[in-house]
Amino acid sequence: MAKPPSVDWAKMQNYKMETIDANTKGIEFLFKKNNIDQLRGWASISAPGRVQIDETTYDAKNVIIASGSEPSTIPNVEIDEKIIVSSTGALSLSKIPKKMTVIGAGVIGLELGSVYARLGTKVTIIEYLDYITPGMDKEVQKSFQRILKKQGISFIMGAAVQSASKTKSLGKVKYKLNKDESLHEIDGDVVLVATGRKPNINRLGLDKLNIELTENGQIKTDSKWQTNIPNIYAIGDVIEGPMLAHKAEDEGMAVAEQIAGKIGHVNYQVIPSVIYTAPEVASVGLTEQQAKKSDRSIKVGKFMFMGNGRAKANFAADGFVKIIADNESDRILGAHIIGPAAGDLIHELCIAMEFGASTQDVALTCHAHPTYSEAVREAALACGTGAIHA
Ligand code: NAD
Repeated sequence: MAKPPSVDWAKMQNYKMETIDANTKGIEFLFKKNNIDQLRGWASISAPGRVQIDETTYDAKNVIIASGSEPSTIPNVEIDEKIIVSSTGALSLSKIPKKMTVIGAGVIGLELGSVYARLGTKVTIIEYLDYITPGMDKEVQKSFQRILKKQGISFIMGAAVQSASKTKSLGKVKYKLNKDESLHEIDGDVVLVATGRKPNINRLGLDKLNIELTENGQIKTDSKWQTNIPNIYAIGDVIEGPMLAHKAEDEGMAVAEQIAGKIGHVNYQVIPSVIYTAPEVASVGLTEQQAKKSDRSIKVGKFMFMGNGRAKANFAADGFVKIIADNESDRILGAHIIGPAAGDLIHELCIAMEFGASTQDVALTCHAHPTYSEAVREAALACGTGAIHA
């Protein structure tokens, strides 16, 4: 009989570093290829049109701030990146923990919780709200949590973390249950703090320039991503909107077009969002709850992966595709997928939405058999006369 499989953690970490290095070098190569100079160092904006990098000052006709975000912790929780870690530390732990406590059932808590649960760690997630992934479609939230529980992840819901402390080898988390205010404690080898991120804008010299911020501490920009100071622009996690790399990428392309005097545009109604767990969760546009709040009458088409031949054959039949459409025009307003390759499948519906397509357009498009994408077509059919394999 074969030996049970095991994980070579050092090899896995090395592979991760090699992959990151290769991708970073790829970007450096693209800089060279496109005549972009790269200056290394800490940058601040000393005056409009002036960027200081360490001891040297450079003139800049236009400046784009794209300094991203950093983890934001909660009171009485100090991150040491060894026992009490943010996502940064969680990606380079010295060994696979036996027990991990995750604070926050948002995207980061679930993605990293899912990674370690698959590596054999006993993961417990503590969340203040009564549901996971705030902002997501309610039906997806429920199904997603059920699937994660089935995989062995434990949840303590409706609990406010009060503090986290550490001994030499353990992290202790104190939390209060919202329902009866009772205090409890849980310990583990590692505590992951995943309670949100904040714009990384300190030490950029923005206060001296009087750059306007929003109430939430993000840089305020106009529709061309320009701040209140001419020729200083901002994009990505430092401004409003979802903190997603691809949203920043789109804004980067658009702001470059704007600066070049062309038309740069981002359609914020069609920004997909993907949670890289197993299975993946992906969404675009309105949730059913958001769509119901608007004046229009809506319809919902849903198809379970259980009825998809490819998903069943691959032992990946958990989850569903759900499409929300306008009842009168049949136009697609939103889509939510939990299941195999959800992060790829969602883009069929993104393109459909960009083209203002109806669910019938998707339903009448031939989809190859056997593929996961047939579940998307079936959900579109379910918005009309009904799915075939339901
Ligand atoms: P989040 O805001 O998505 O979730 C934080 C969670 O922590 C919330 O559910 C909140 O209720 C809970 N929480 C806060 N304080 C708490 C307390 N004291 N006790 C218990 N629970 C508490 O934050 P995140 O998961 O850290 O992600 C940060 C940002 O990074 C998000 O905008 C996310 O979209 C983005 N991100 C996205 C991806 C992706 O799309 N794949 C990956 C990484 C990060």
